[in-house]
Amino acid sequence: MADAPRPARNRTPRLARVISKDQLTPHMIRIVFGGEGLDGFAVGEFTDHYVKLKIPAGDDQTRTRTYTVREWDATRGELTIDFVVHGDEGFAGPWAAAAQPGDTLAFNGPGGGYTPDPEAAWHLLVGDPSVIPAISASLARIPAGVPVHVLIEADGPDDEQALATPGDLHVNYTHGGPGSIVETIESYTFPDGPVSAFVHGEASTVRAVRKHLLVDREIPREAISASGYWKLTLTDEGWRENKAEWNRLAEQDVAAVAPSRD
Ligand SMILES: Cc1cc2nc3c(=O)[nH]c(=O)nc-3n(C[C@H](O)[C@H](O)[C@H](O)COP(=O)(O)OP(=O)(O)OC[C@H]3O[C@@H](n4cnc5c(N)ncnc54)[C@H](O)[C@@H]3O)c2cc1C
Repeated sequence: MADAPRPARNRTPRLARVISKDQLTPHMIRIVFGGEGLDGFAVGEFTDHYVKLKIPAGDDQTRTRTYTVREWDATRGELTIDFVVHGDEGFAGPWAAAAQPGDTLAFNGPGGGYTPDPEAAWHLLVGDPSVIPAISASLARIPAGVPVHVLIEADGPDDEQALATPGDLHVNYTHGGPGSIVETIESYTFPDGPVSAFVHGEASTVRAVRKHLLVDREIPREAISASGYWKLTLTDEGWRENKAEWNRLAEQDVAAVAPSRD
């Protein structure tokens, strides 16, 4: 099965309060949360830590949406989350667009499952803007001087964000529309040596990239962390229902590849 994030561990919801809000790009809003509800919150084991936000959905209802811990400042007790704002549809994107300092949000977590392999000869990080928070957190953990190739599919040049790492950084943004990054990766010159790959984001794109890495590039399964964060045209509820089928198809894609050593 494709590598799915581990479930969030903490089942007792915490309450976070919006401290500040920044428009990072036309489609990305950064919200910094604080408040006593964050006392004792702890992350650091992984670079793709995430929380399960309880987004208000009217009539005292909430919808659960998963977001990466972009940064946790333990000294200040502040949690930073970067939200893609993808239009009027959905709950989390519109909530972030309308959020004001003082607003509160309940959440569970953290969970997580990936950290860059310190032994890898080079690193490949692939995604779309929803993955930039996890990519940025991972970049901070790449050993000094080790090559790291970042490939991101974004709407346009305005959606690009500056990235930083102690590693030897190579960044490629593509703006060719959904799935266009697959062609970019297929023709990309890979460095020699064992890779540690992180491939997340839109589910159909993740599936195609994962297949290419496993089948065409013959990268071992254990060197690849891959999962769909969201799926084009489906709400998060729809995507969660679709996930078992996605996993089945993703395994069918790579049926000829040796099973995982796990
Ligand atoms: C482990 C994990 C970590 C994640 N981290 C982040 C993160 O740090 N930042 C972040 O922005 N997202 C992140 N996501 C993705 C986020 O959970 C989904 O995008 C979620 O569906 C957004 O909820 P919504 O209520 O805004 O839209 P939904 O109600 O789920 O969907 C409404 C419509 O919007 C479309 N849509 C959803 N997301 C996007 C998108 N990113 N771009 C374009 N169209 C979209 C859907 O296909 C649907 O048509 C993460 C997901 C996972 C599983």
